Amino acid sequence: MGCIMMRVCHLDTCPVGVATQNPELRKKFSGKAEYIVTFFEYIAQEVREILAELGFRSLQEAIGQAGVLDTQRAVDHWKAAGLDLEPILHQPDVPAGTALTCTKKQDHGLDAALDNTLIALSEAAIADGKPVRIELPVRNVNRTVGTMLGAEVTRRYRGAGLPEGTIDITLTGSAGQSLGAFLPKGITLRLYGDANDYVGKGLSGGRVVVRPDVEAGFPAQDNVIAGNTLLYGATAGSLFVRGKVGERFCVRNSGATAVVEGVGDHALEYMTGGRVAIVGPTGRNVGAGMSGGEAYVLDLHEVLVNREMVDLEPLADGDIETLRQMLSDHAEETGSPVAQALLDQPAWTRFTKVMPRDYKKVLLAMEQARRDGTDVDEAVMAASKN
Ligand code: SF4
Repeated sequence: MGCIMMRVCHLDTCPVGVATQNPELRKKFSGKAEYIVTFFEYIAQEVREILAELGFRSLQEAIGQAGVLDTQRAVDHWKAAGLDLEPILHQPDVPAGTALTCTKKQDHGLDAALDNTLIALSEAAIADGKPVRIELPVRNVNRTVGTMLGAEVTRRYRGAGLPEGTIDITLTGSAGQSLGAFLPKGITLRLYGDANDYVGKGLSGGRVVVRPDVEAGFPAQDNVIAGNTLLYGATAGSLFVRGKVGERFCVRNSGATAVVEGVGDHALEYMTGGRVAIVGPTGRNVGAGMSGGEAYVLDLHEVLVNREMVDLEPLADGDIETLRQMLSDHAEETGSPVAQALLDQPAWTRFTKVMPRDYKKVLLAMEQARRDGTDVDEAVMAASKN
């Protein structure tokens, strides 16, 4: 595609316009789809030659033949010193004719997925955009609840999705992994109970609400009610969790909004966009690698923050308005007494804003360019180089 291996992909200065957002540099891009085809033909040719040398007719025949691997160079390498590769390269003594490769299709059990029921009950919404309300129990064997339904909505309505909350689902129980993964706009999933890891993974415009069971006798804000890596790679939508969650909350979130009442280690890791309010304790390493988005954290302990890319600031007037709205939505969606208390007796000075340093520079440059009527793209490029 024109890459000349300058290896500056991360600096936004790629001289041949491959790895850059700079419109001037992108003009220099000379790649063509045909080049990629040719490249893969070369790879295929080389693979065939290597297979022929080894005496195999296909990749299928070569899979599992650990005996033909030339491991000596790897084992002798100083980085591998002390490593015993024997267990990995061991060839089990199996009867002749035993399959060494995958010969059976894996049955993912999708026929039994809860989403088949959700899709059937959402027919009016999928076909005609009519609002539907659904109430169902959920168990932790039900994984990625809402994802197949979301796919149906996206197939029909594309990226635009449906109007907010057209499909409103209330679940009661313990949800399995990845509740609401990739949920598009138009679907709201409300869970009364608790959830496993990856709630809202890749969230794409939908809304997920997690709150304890109505019968639960514990104070939600002191208990973990959802697992790790919530909102992993989310791009849009919202998540409200009444209670604490596990580690890596919002890792790689690029656009979703979230309110939560406590998080484990590594919250906001690698975030590039979106807005998060944490109204409870955090673990260590908050904001590691966070290059975009914003977070408001109650009573934040500064020593727990990874300051490599973020600064800590008090809330400005605009932030207070935004946070007030987030807390009000959280209180409405989850009945959270924590959010309600913060709204009844505001204490905005107890909040700290976690703000990525370079992101702030770029936002300020954009604002200035708009005020001056100058080119916004150029202002962004100039700011990101300083
Ligand atoms: S900066 Fe551009 S040319 Fe250089 S290695 Fe990265 S993609 Fe290739």
